[in-house]
Amino acid sequence: MEPEVEVNVRGGVLYPIDCHLHPGDLMQTIYQYLQSNGVQFHLNTTIEGFEKEGRKVSKVITDKGDFTADAFVLATGSWLPIVTKHLGIELLLQAGKGYSMTFENVEKNLHQPAILVDDRVAMTPMGTDLRMGGTMEISGLQSPMLIKRVQAIFKAAKNYYPNLPVSFPSSEKIWWGWRPLSPDGLPYIGRHSAFDNLVLSGGHAMLGLSLAAATGKLVEEIVGGKKTSMDIAAFNVERYN
Ligand SMILES: Cc1cc2nc3c(=O)[nH]c(=O)nc-3n(C[C@H](O)[C@H](O)[C@H](O)COP(=O)(O)OP(=O)(O)OC[C@H]3O[C@@H](n4cnc5c(N)ncnc54)[C@H](O)[C@@H]3O)c2cc1C
Repeated sequence: MEPEVEVNVRGGVLYPIDCHLHPGDLMQTIYQYLQSNGVQFHLNTTIEGFEKEGRKVSKVITDKGDFTADAFVLATGSWLPIVTKHLGIELLLQAGKGYSMTFENVEKNLHQPAILVDDRVAMTPMGTDLRMGGTMEISGLQSPMLIKRVQAIFKAAKNYYPNLPVSFPSSEKIWWGWRPLSPDGLPYIGRHSAFDNLVLSGGHAMLGLSLAAATGKLVEEIVGGKKTSMDIAAFNVERYN
């Protein structure tokens, strides 16, 4: 299964219908598709507050001006509680930091993506590139990079694939991001009872990309006042109130 690199394991489990992708390419493709279909994006625009009229959110206030809308969907990931606080909504959610390194033009690359379960590291070949990522660091949204955690990912990868031809990268090549974590591991998807035109969507933890399409479908159904295609009681945004 891995013709180019040595694999130092007793065995593994193959999930033949699992698949993987390049998240950056996916986002670019979706972005271009939506733009060419009339969706307007306001990038690098930070929500700083809201205006309310009775049971409705009437305006979102940003650093680039105010925007009105009939309906508002808040999907600000690990920053969701910071944004909902402007509306008086407390949400139990914290950030779980993870790191990744992407190696370009790897001479002898993996042919299969793999989860190194014991070390909680994900290995993803992307064409001739290779990404390795992992760790769950609970240290808020402002903490600096912990190089020890990144070294642990690299060490695990080298332990499983001893002759993988990659060297530990310089710090500017190390990426990190935050997974939005709810206490029960389930996302928050749905309306908040305080407002008639507000939908929250977030808290997808380690599966935000995998669950994005299904979440988008549910949000579209909720905003459109349709019956949702599945029972969403478990995702109730007020389940901890
Ligand atoms: C190392 C790592 C590996 C991962 N691997 C996988 C994987 O293999 N598969 C998978 O499915 N998921 C994976 N995830 C998880 C996935 O990235 C998240 O679940 C997903 O990004 C959550 O999506 P989101 O849209 O809710 O939040 P985000 O992607 O965090 O997006 C929230 C957006 O809101 C913006 N924002 C925040 N505050 C404001 C504000 N005040 N005003 C305006 N905008 C604001 C942010 O800038 C950001 O663009 C991984 C995460 C990490 C860190």
